[in-house]
Amino acid sequence: MTCKRCGKEVNEGAFCPYCGTPLYVETPQKVDKPDAGYTVLGFFLPVIGLILYLVWKDDYPLRAKSCGKGALIGAIVAVALWVLSIVLTLLITMLGLLVTVPAFTLL
Ligand SMILES: [Zn+2]
Repeated sequence: MTCKRCGKEVNEGAFCPYCGTPLYVETPQKVDKPDAGYTVLGFFLPVIGLILYLVWKDDYPLRAKSCGKGALIGAIVAVALWVLSIVLTLLITMLGLLVTVPAFTLL
């Protein structure tokens, strides 16, 4: 490997033997871990979860995954509830017709 500071070829080690620069100068470690809080956030606000997922997917893949998972589950639940409400509305309407139509025909 080469030393980042002086550019000389150096063997593996903690410091460059030529200039003393630490060879593993990491850029400040990004904290990336799955976060249940973001899963919950994504669940209740799927749109926000999706946006955060898209913003974080490159830099914070694990956190982004938490967001995305919550958003996905939240979206599925939202669609399921939406479909259920439509089905129930139709069902109630049809039941209402079944009840009212025969009564109407008697007149
Ligand atoms: Zn060096």
